[in-house]
Amino acid sequence: MTDAEKKALEKFMTGLKKRNPHEEEFHQAVEEVVASILPWYLQHDDYCKAQILERVTEPDRIISFRVTWETDNEEIRANRAWRVQFNHALGPYKGGLRFHPSVTQSVLKFLGFEQIFKNSLTGLPMGGAKGGSNFNPKGKSQSEVMRFCQSMMTELHRHIGEDIDVPAGDIGVGGREVSYLFGQYMRLENRWSGVLTGKGQSFGGSAVRTEATGWGAVYFLEHMLKQHDEELEGKRVAISGAGNVAFYAADKLLEEGAKVVTLSDSKGFIHVKDGLSRDQWQELYQIKEVQRRTLADFQSEGVEYHEGQRPWGVPCEIAMPCATQNELDDVDAGDLVKNGVIAVCEGANMPTTIGAIRIFKENRILHAPGKASNAGGVAVSGLEQSQNALRISWSREEVDRRLRDIMKNIHRRCVEESTHNGYTNYIDGSNLAGFKKVAEAMLAYGAV
Ligand code: NDP
Repeated sequence: MTDAEKKALEKFMTGLKKRNPHEEEFHQAVEEVVASILPWYLQHDDYCKAQILERVTEPDRIISFRVTWETDNEEIRANRAWRVQFNHALGPYKGGLRFHPSVTQSVLKFLGFEQIFKNSLTGLPMGGAKGGSNFNPKGKSQSEVMRFCQSMMTELHRHIGEDIDVPAGDIGVGGREVSYLFGQYMRLENRWSGVLTGKGQSFGGSAVRTEATGWGAVYFLEHMLKQHDEELEGKRVAISGAGNVAFYAADKLLEEGAKVVTLSDSKGFIHVKDGLSRDQWQELYQIKEVQRRTLADFQSEGVEYHEGQRPWGVPCEIAMPCATQNELDDVDAGDLVKNGVIAVCEGANMPTTIGAIRIFKENRILHAPGKASNAGGVAVSGLEQSQNALRISWSREEVDRRLRDIMKNIHRRCVEESTHNGYTNYIDGSNLAGFKKVAEAMLAYGAV
């Protein structure tokens, strides 16, 4: 960046922070995108005059509401919930719902903002949105979760629709929650439509949606390695998280002959020195995804449990952060580099801090940002919308083939946008490729 570009970035960020005080996660996500695109943007007078950057960082609207529900003991509880409809230049709003105590308006704004460019990268007609609540599903009974979902949809249904806004799952919102939400939507609207994705396969869900984010991230990783004359087979991969994305990333890595050496949850991580076996994967899946317990409950020979720690100190060639935002900081990045990491492929959204990104870049580590590498989830959600609209369902093989194609194309676009001296900067590449399409559409629409 030239001095003038640095100055322009600082000026833009000062204004954004003033307009959006106390929203650190949102500031971080915007800064990462703007730092990538600014040199290109400043050379385009028409975009600058149309204030595309100012407009694309302001959500179209934020719906904020209270969700009141009753516990099994007949006590009343009230949670906060939001839907951030960020930008629909490229298609109906699309993005998941997150249920977690850490959810705030800032977290959902950062996720909604990222979603705009991720969805653009998929090449499918989808705008960007995100929603959720500070409701904690952990420790709640099945009926409490159902009552919460029904109450949430009682408000949300007014604002969504198959051509308006199509939510899906995210942290704390899996198949069970999507089904409760969908059931309540149908009760209120008295019609079946593809208004949510991630549905059960017997009622309109797509094959491979459950696996899509983790599998897609591994497809992206394989392209990234191949592009730089490396291969996945035999490599040690440290994964964080033990949820949907982490499990299906591990699943595909096992299939491709890599060694999965860690998984983590909010309480600690497991280190499997010789690499996870298929049987161990199955057992862990039961513990975490079916019984909703902790990794501490998993005991097996050759497996160490580290309470309260993150997995980034474990020697590995590849790191896949698949848990949550800002879970890998500059100290972790330094440890990974010291231990010989060659690639970082994000399954989660914004899992690396700005300091960690800088360290990876300085050391020419291949680093795929979530908006590129985890786009497989929303891509298959987009395919679910298409299947619902056509009233057909494609086979597992067909959806997987389309997913592979989409990940390959996203990789190609990143390489085309930002490869210099044989090294691809995937962060700049994905931001530029994602942004350009949205900016072009916004310019074409005029002052709206
Ligand atoms: P899940 O809820 O299925 O799993 C999340 C995992 O991360 C759990 O193991 C959880 O631990 C752990 N975790 C959550 N918060 C923290 C925290 N603050 N510190 C440490 N560990 C934490 O979510 P997903 O797998 O669906 O999502 C993971 C990430 O991937 C998120 O960033 C999400 O936005 C992103 N993503 C998900 C997509 C999808 O299709 N599901 C699509 C694209 C992105 P515990 O089990 O103890 O709760």
